[in-house]
This record gives sequence, structure tokens and C-alpha cells, in this order.
Amino acid sequence: MINRRKHLIKRIIGSGGFITLSLVFVFGACGTSNDSASPVATAMATAPVVTTVEPIATPIATTPPEMNIPKPSHMPSPTPLQTQGFEGQSVCIAEEYVNIRESADKDSAVVGMLPAGETADVIAYEDGWAHVAYGGVTGFVSRKYLISRHVPVIDVPMGDWAAILVNPSHLLPDGFEVALAEFEGGHVDARILDICKAMFADAKADGVSFRLVDAYRSYETQNAQYQKKVNSYIAKGYSLEDAEVKAATITARPNTSEHQTGLALDIVTPSYTKRDKGFANTDAFLWLYANAQDYGFILRYKQDKQEITKVIYEPWHWRFVGAQAARATKQSGECYEEYMVN
Ligand SMILES: [Zn+2]
Repeated sequence: MINRRKHLIKRIIGSGGFITLSLVFVFGACGTSNDSASPVATAMATAPVVTTVEPIATPIATTPPEMNIPKPSHMPSPTPLQTQGFEGQSVCIAEEYVNIRESADKDSAVVGMLPAGETADVIAYEDGWAHVAYGGVTGFVSRKYLISRHVPVIDVPMGDWAAILVNPSHLLPDGFEVALAEFEGGHVDARILDICKAMFADAKADGVSFRLVDAYRSYETQNAQYQKKVNSYIAKGYSLEDAEVKAATITARPNTSEHQTGLALDIVTPSYTKRDKGFANTDAFLWLYANAQDYGFILRYKQDKQEITKVIYEPWHWRFVGAQAARATKQSGECYEEYMVN
């Protein structure tokens, strides 16, 4: 009851059959020197490959032709997608740093703290108080400092394909392709379509609107954007070498961009459409910051981790990594590079 997350239900939707991931690609030729440090990174995001030859209808066969989805090289597998199910759960988010007290009384002893922006599990609400569990402590917090919400019952897709680490030292293999689905005017990895839809719909139900401004990018698109950025620095007087280094901190070099996986979403909101630091002051960002981990998404490029990620703070860039990794990094404060090597 105290922490219903303990009741995670691992299940395989559908037949309950096993899934065999085909680890087709390996690094090495891509210049990666520390593959062994992050084993999951080598489990490339190839579409699961079918181990049987049962002529089952594939999801792609049901896609209306008018959707004009780019042709995937790996057809989506008819094997049911593996997901992690979660029971609905009451949680609350602290609007500011607040005391956790021994009883529902402002004069009772302080037994812990709930930092601003952190989420606690709600055991029960009692008048103006919430009986909460946070960081191993249970106690009472005044409801006037809390935002309440109910984590929906949800199935989050999972698998090594979701964990892929992509950065300047973990390149996607040449010719990497993924089965795509259309979403909000862009394209995402077909396996995360439903969870993307759920996250956008749930935010809307909480009064928050998102606008997707970028998701999947092909190698060609990524390369063109990178070259454009390099050229802009050359025009400012940088040498080619310096321009390339500078450009890469803002627009990733081809095969180092998460956008090529279809697992990264650039999200803004209709009232603030710029992709800059100002997005962090919007309701849309606050909603994502509080909730995205429940949908398997992380704030990939954090303000305090730029030394490690080598990428500027990007409050608009949200990456699907699966629920377990998303919740763990949210709890620890690590960036994804730290999570993958620890
Ligand atoms: Zn992005």
C-alpha cells in the first residue's frame, strides 16, 4: 500500500511468448572505445526479429496507405511488444520545499523533507494533509504545498532497443533504420507510438498542451542540419575545425543524434514555441518534469550535466528510455551517460 510501485507487473502482452532481440549491429567501426562500459549500448535498437515463421499479420499491414509512412527497412515484428504495466497510483508533487511531519499537525515533529519538484507517493488524504511516503520516510505534508495527481494505469514498452545510448562516442551504425509511425505531424519509433499518445493525452487532461516540433530525423536530415550549423560558424569567422566542434554542441553530428532513433521528442507548447531555456518556465515543461518518467521519458540534456553530455541544456528534448531507467535517473539525478556506466 505504501509504495505500490513494488507491485510492478512485468508482463508480455498477448501470447506471453518470448521475444528474441536480434543484436545485429555492433560498434567498433564507429570509433567507440568503451563499449564494455555500457553493455546495453551494444544492444542496438533493431526491430525485434521474429523467431518463428508463423504468417501472422504484422502491424504495418493494417496501416492505411494514405498515412505515407517512410518505408522501414526492418518490418515491425509480429511478436507482441513487451511492456511494463503499472497500477494507477496517487502521487503528489511539492511546489516548494516542505516539511514532512510526524502527524497531521503543524506543531508535530519534522521527520523529513520533500524538496520542491519531487514526487511522493500518497497513502491517504486527511483534511488539509496528505499522508505520504518519500525517500523511506512516511509522514504528513500540508496539502497547500502540493500538486496532486493520479498516475494512470499504463503499459510502457520496454526492451534493449529503448535503452540505446547515442552520443558523440556511441554512434549509430551506418544504415541504421527503424520502423516508424506517424505522430503529431512527425514520426516516432512505432513501438512508442501508444505511449507518446498517452503522454500527450494525459497532459491535455491536466490542462497542458504540447506541440511536437521535432521527432525522428533521417541521417540525411541530421547531416544537412549539422552542415548548416557548421557553415553558420564559418560565416562568423571560425575555422572549419572549430566550427565543427562548436556546431556539434548544438546540432549533433550525423549518427550521434538521438533523433535518428525515433525515440527523442522535441516538445514545446503553443504559447511558447521556441526551443530555448525559456521553455523551462512553462507549464508544459513543469508537467514533463514531474511526470515524463512514468511514461519512460527523461530530460536528456540537463543544465548541470553539460560537462558530461557535451550538449547544451535542452528542456524541450525528451528521450524515451523505458520506465525503469527513466524513474531511476529521475530519482538519482544522473544523466543518461552516468546511468549507463554505473
Ligand atoms: Zn531534440
